[in-house]
Amino acid sequence: MNLPALRVLVVEDDEDDYVLVRDLLSESDERRFHLEWEANYDAALRSIEHNQHDVYLLDYRLGERNGLELLREGLANGCRGPMILLTGQGDYAVDLAAMQAGAADFLVKGQFDAALLERSIRYSVERRHAEDTLRQQLTAINASMDGMAILNENGEFVYVNDAMVAMFGYDRAWLVGKPWQVLYDQEEIGRFEKDILPGLWREGRWRGEVVGKRRDGSMFPQEVSMNTHEGGGLVRIDRDITERKQAEERIQESGRLASIGELADGVAHEIHNPLTSVLGFTQLILQEGVSEQIRDDLEKIRSEAQRAGKIVHNLLSFARKHEPEQQHLELISILERALELKSFDFKNGNIRIKRELSPDLPRTMVDEHQLIQVIMNVITNAEQAMKKYQGRGELTVRTSHTDDRIRLSISDDGPGIPPECLPKIFEPFFTTKEVGVGTGLGLSICYGIIQQHGGDIWADSVPGQGTTFHIELPIASPLEEERVPSPTKHILVVDDEPHIRDLLARSLVRERYTVDLAESGEEAWRKVQSISYDCIIMDLKMP
Ligand code: ADP
Repeated sequence: MNLPALRVLVVEDDEDDYVLVRDLLSESDERRFHLEWEANYDAALRSIEHNQHDVYLLDYRLGERNGLELLREGLANGCRGPMILLTGQGDYAVDLAAMQAGAADFLVKGQFDAALLERSIRYSVERRHAEDTLRQQLTAINASMDGMAILNENGEFVYVNDAMVAMFGYDRAWLVGKPWQVLYDQEEIGRFEKDILPGLWREGRWRGEVVGKRRDGSMFPQEVSMNTHEGGGLVRIDRDITERKQAEERIQESGRLASIGELADGVAHEIHNPLTSVLGFTQLILQEGVSEQIRDDLEKIRSEAQRAGKIVHNLLSFARKHEPEQQHLELISILERALELKSFDFKNGNIRIKRELSPDLPRTMVDEHQLIQVIMNVITNAEQAMKKYQGRGELTVRTSHTDDRIRLSISDDGPGIPPECLPKIFEPFFTTKEVGVGTGLGLSICYGIIQQHGGDIWADSVPGQGTTFHIELPIASPLEEERVPSPTKHILVVDDEPHIRDLLARSLVRERYTVDLAESGEEAWRKVQSISYDCIIMDLKMP
């Protein structure tokens, strides 16, 4: 055999004993050894810490100190090579202590020959090598983003990696030794026993989706693949697929809403023309001299037809096909404008606003008025939900972005949306509000608008813990013609009466003006310092 010589450090304060070891090892024809001798404790420790040898032979007696102390100190200071302790006869207490402290082996002086010494060294080195390899493999397994676990033939965890522990929220020490059932609820355990395990034992493997239960009781979808091994146990790989599932659901949801949109569009167009006729002819008859009674009836027909017209108009904006009028704008200033328009209602309704806005949010192409409409809709729903639930509330607005999308998230601490309603809230006419309060068109219009912007809108909700609406828009750079100054006029409304401010702002926004509000002369003065308005509308009498 042509293996490289093993580097051995012998730590021994008695030269005769060292010579004995040297002579024994020179007899070996299995393996060549390159021996060094160190008699001094401190010098030996320095050498051990530098890991320059493959194996260490430590005499128990080292003047004032002993080999066991050296072993412990060496290991504590990062020694990686195996250490074999040599001692006098009958020291079994030392033997035990040495093994517990991490010695690779223990030999009694006078009781070993060349073969035994050589084998002890060889085994120690090979075992350490195998341990190092295993440790590297475990490090790699732990670095995996997927959970991995080994179970014994009783279905108990023998090994779990870091990702597995994190996925379920348990401590490793707690999970090891527990049966696999701790990760599932009764229903899922039943499914395993009936549908999954028989196939696994028959085929030797199984892969599929199950619902895991975390330590805190929350459930999550996971993909599990399991392989049985010869010992009768199995190896499993677990992956949390919550995000993938949500994305799939959103794709399904948008497909469904698109077909509802087609239908709504068709129906709305079909109704639009007959309605126009109803309104037109009613108008005509009203202009002719008719009796008071008939006039009253016709007015009713007209007002009901107008109401139907409004619904048709809203339906069309859910299914709208035409392009929004986009400008390159800051989402946050649009959000602030919407919040300002609702500020009076929020104050009255005990709704506090919490802002978590990122200062570096990129601008994007949006139709300002449509986006205000979307935000107003979402925050009005939140306001109504929180007020009804607890007479007060906190609304959190949060922005974030990736390389290509910006996201606005609006969370309330209202009642939440029951899971059976959540998939329906963007459908036209879906409402849980009383007749006359809700039409069920608000969110479907929001959906239509955001779709036309190439974005996404969806909601997360946990009943009892509130609702979050996420609005995501692609980041788009301005078109050439967009760089021409926008024709929108910027108006400042100054009035100390909140109702008046609100009324003026709403009517002006509807007319497509950009509106800023001030409630006092001082505030107005501050605003005109930084912005040049096209027009200022001001109350004459102010406090
Ligand atoms: P409407 O407000 O007329 O009912 P929407 O389309 O705006 O119509 O909303 C549909 C439904 O979604 C509401 O009736 C309500 O059940 C639910 N919803 C929307 N936002 C919230 C919220 N923040 N909290 C609880 N439920 C909500």
